[in-house]
Amino acid sequence: MDIEAEAGAQMPCPVCAQSCPLYDHEVKRWRHLNFWQHPTYLSARVPRVQCPEHQVRQVMVPWARPESGFTLMFEAFVMALTREMPVAAVAELMAEHDTRLWRVVRHDVGQADAGQDWSGVQAVAVDDTATRKGHRYATVVVEIDPARLLFITPERTAASVGQFVTAMPAHGADPAQVKLAAIDMSAAYQKGIRAHLPNAQIVFDRFHVMQLAGKALDEVRRHLQHEGAQMKGALWVLRGNESRLSQAQRELRHDLCARHKELGRAMALRESLQETWEWPEAASAESHLKAWCSWAVRSRLAPFKKLAQTLKSHWAGILAYYPHRITSAAIESINSIIQTARRRARGFRNFENLKAVCYWMAGHLDLKIPSAFTHPG
Ligand SMILES: [Zn+2]
Repeated sequence: MDIEAEAGAQMPCPVCAQSCPLYDHEVKRWRHLNFWQHPTYLSARVPRVQCPEHQVRQVMVPWARPESGFTLMFEAFVMALTREMPVAAVAELMAEHDTRLWRVVRHDVGQADAGQDWSGVQAVAVDDTATRKGHRYATVVVEIDPARLLFITPERTAASVGQFVTAMPAHGADPAQVKLAAIDMSAAYQKGIRAHLPNAQIVFDRFHVMQLAGKALDEVRRHLQHEGAQMKGALWVLRGNESRLSQAQRELRHDLCARHKELGRAMALRESLQETWEWPEAASAESHLKAWCSWAVRSRLAPFKKLAQTLKSHWAGILAYYPHRITSAAIESINSIIQTARRRARGFRNFENLKAVCYWMAGHLDLKIPSAFTHPG
């Protein structure tokens, strides 16, 4: 399709919108939505105007944004697809090079993210998440209610919290407004919260406390295995809640715990610790936790003795779960979206691409693009 401007017309300067005389034309081409199965291009001789203030400038066209080789409709379609499938697959489907599609994703997400309003954010969770196989980690900052990904940055240090705080003013937010921060028990995040979010009460998230209990249980298992105990299949049946196991797995768990008294004690300790958060208020939870710690200390299980010490040195932050009853649901849901995004972004080449997919999938962005294809939810 060819589009042409009328001769002698005046057009607005793209910078100041002043009506200016035409200077010349340049032929431009944009990829548009396929016509049936055929790749379709729009081409136009785009006028350049001579503005008295801004010299020679190419005018804006209503169907594409400046610098893009795609029409807005095509970009909207790309964005709708990349929310549901890997960018590499979208590239293949549309017979486009994936670097061009990544550019669209980064641009549209970046613009929408810049418009995100954080002014109402009072409770956040700061957590680390794996970004590559092996040991590459990023820090994520999540708004707890409603659950929304606010920020992701490489590394997991105290300074990562500082980077989030540095981004706050541009989103209409102030560090003083954050009253609660749910974190794991790592020294880095504690230091980061104290340094950068001075009004935030630290809450050690129950999810992370239970993760430590799971690790302690696993150490007991490995110790027994090391001493020659038969532990076939134990790794999986000892994990998680019993309700999630099949009948056969449940029987194996009971059998292992009955045959190995240490394992039985470790399992009972883990399940009892889980009950801490079922108490209605801080005082009863605290007496439960005190009783649990003295049991753990007497358990003759080194990993649980150590866990009791860890809990004692993080006491106030664990009980700070009350009265707000900060749950880990937000972290867990965002984290699972991020792990999906990571698989989606396979071959993402750089952190900015991963970040864009994460914000797109978990950031509740308003893309402000033709909405024919965007997700209703
Ligand atoms: Zn101008």
